[in-house]
Amino acid sequence: MKELLQKIIDENKKYTKKGNVATYIPELKKANRDDLGICIIDMDNNIYQVGSYEKKFTIQSVSKPITLALALMDNGKEKVFSKVGMEPSGDPFNSIMKLETTKPSIPYNPMINAGAIMITSMIKGKNNDEKLERMLKFFRKLSGNENLDINYDVYMCEKQTGDRNRAMAYLLKSEGILEENVEEVLDLYFKQCSIEVTVKDLARIGLNLASHGVDIRNGERLIESDISRIVKTFMVTCGMYDASGQFAINVGIPSKSGVGGGIMATVPNEMGIGVFGPSLDKKGNSIAGVKVLENLSEKLNLSIF
Ligand code: GLN
Repeated sequence: MKELLQKIIDENKKYTKKGNVATYIPELKKANRDDLGICIIDMDNNIYQVGSYEKKFTIQSVSKPITLALALMDNGKEKVFSKVGMEPSGDPFNSIMKLETTKPSIPYNPMINAGAIMITSMIKGKNNDEKLERMLKFFRKLSGNENLDINYDVYMCEKQTGDRNRAMAYLLKSEGILEENVEEVLDLYFKQCSIEVTVKDLARIGLNLASHGVDIRNGERLIESDISRIVKTFMVTCGMYDASGQFAINVGIPSKSGVGGGIMATVPNEMGIGVFGPSLDKKGNSIAGVKVLENLSEKLNLSIF
């Protein structure tokens, strides 16, 4: 397996030159465009890591399926889906357009920013500190990494420049969809996006979804099976932004990408995969990371379809 991964990483390294690192905040511009790494953890807990696997990066949108799971556990399906839809939007992740043109103006799904902000607003806790603590605890448990924490430089940058997200959140508030204090919700959302991870953390989270919410190391149930199913389904239909259809055809693995360059993928009953390549394509997906998953899926016959 390790040799196969090494070969795939080497062969796809050239694609890192075709994309660009995220530039919407100065902190993300610092990433090294050439980095490319992968980690796979299988159901027997074998761990394979190759390339830039030691690099830390911020989780960004890969956090969205995880907070979705927590919000579903906190509120139940009925409440959550009265505030966020289940359909792909076909628009870029930070698009604001459909919030105005659809009535009621609930976000299309929890994987676009507007939907993810709504999801963050539904995390339970008596104040923001407690909500953050619960969120971090959940991320740490799922990743099996007790040291997972926020990159405060990235968080500050996100907060200072996040006006588009702010605009969406205020629009949702004006429509009566978002009920909480906007600045507090956004503060939590920016912190959520700024959690620092490695590919191994993403692979472990992916594995916990692949095993339908049970930690294979000790049998502990971390997520209800039904919630894990919902999360994976959103990863298929909306996980790779407005490239999800193409990705489903070419790769066929439930996956979620983030502008930090991470992709978390989950092959049901088989493995969790974490990929990192900060050079992004025009839609915000890791350009070489997608190619790596494409090759891997083909070689190991991983498409779920
Ligand atoms: N922090 C980013 C934002 O909210 C995350 C988006 C992403 O990874 N696509 O704009």
